Amino acid sequence: MNQSTTTSLPIGVLVGDGIGPEIVPAAMAVADAAARLEELTLDRVELPFGRGAIDTHGDPVPESTLRALDDLDLWVLGPHDSASYPAEHRRRTPGAVIRTRFGLFANLRPAQAFPGVRATTPDIDVLIVRENTEGLYADRNMYAGSGEFMPTPDVALAVGLITRAASERIARVACAAARDRRGHLTIVHKANVLTLTTGLFRDVCREVAAEYPDLVVDEQHVDAMAAHLVRRPGDFDVVVTENLFGDVLSDLAAELAGSLGIAASVNCSDAKVMAQAAHGAAPDIAGRGIANPVAMMLSVAMAFRRHGTIREDTAEVATGGRIEAAVADTLAASTATADLGGTASCAEFTDAVLARLADG
Ligand code: ATP
Repeated sequence: MNQSTTTSLPIGVLVGDGIGPEIVPAAMAVADAAARLEELTLDRVELPFGRGAIDTHGDPVPESTLRALDDLDLWVLGPHDSASYPAEHRRRTPGAVIRTRFGLFANLRPAQAFPGVRATTPDIDVLIVRENTEGLYADRNMYAGSGEFMPTPDVALAVGLITRAASERIARVACAAARDRRGHLTIVHKANVLTLTTGLFRDVCREVAAEYPDLVVDEQHVDAMAAHLVRRPGDFDVVVTENLFGDVLSDLAAELAGSLGIAASVNCSDAKVMAQAAHGAAPDIAGRGIANPVAMMLSVAMAFRRHGTIREDTAEVATGGRIEAAVADTLAASTATADLGGTASCAEFTDAVLARLADG
């Protein structure tokens, strides 16, 4: 990797709804501080998104925001509370609009227990690689219309979509991740029941994994996987699965590791990287200053690592590492928000991370 001469890094910032106005600025403050230590200046591009954008632009994801993102390849997406939007804005979730427009086909969701955090399964350290564009997600698996429909008021149907191309590209991301981690890939499917769809996913993953002879590859049905994650999480490293299974398993894994509030994630294509915490807008606690900013901070760190690796920018990769270390040290010192059993507010936790960064 070459030492980059870049000193200014453009980064989009989309604050979003619910706890977004609390956790996104917290994560960006930490990101700015970490970047400065690597002589990198974050050139923030703030973009309208979410409920506020409906009020100002008539759309939760205004066209002007999408056009600005065309020119960026790194951004931070806050949570959206689309269930609370007026009906005309609920057909497609804002996250799906952005993921589809920019082909962000891979959702990487790590779940790791941190020293200092009470975890149900202290030995969990898995990366769930979730296919992000297909499956049963009715708002994104059709060219026109919806994959979910009702022929009569009492009958509801959903169409699931699995393609060879999408399965292959996600399998490659998962295999590469497994090679960089502990060399173990678990393919999760439900091919005993959904034989054609998740069977195709499984078969393509097997084919791709065969190109990585250094990996240990095994398989699980999704229901068994849920049980195994609880009973013996230490046996898993990288898990590759389709969209809905990945969504459910990653929430389970996050809670096993301590809380949804520490669950980081990035959505990416081969060129673009979007940091997006795995949790939602948490409207039940929004505005109270008690949200846990860790998931957002670690998502930003992961985005820097991935984007920096794509650009071969050591300073950017190191910025991600600094954020991760400062967050981990803060948690290890038992500074934690209420979801982790602590008493720190979002602002107090953020100040503690900033202090760690200042200490170098
Ligand atoms: P979505 O479908 O948009 O992912 P969700 O229905 O899964 O959303 P969340 O918004 O993720 O729901 O919230 C689930 C629970 O986790 C809520 O009780 C919420 O308060 C809690 N939670 C989520 N994120 C955090 C956080 N950062 N800090 C503290 N608690 C959180």
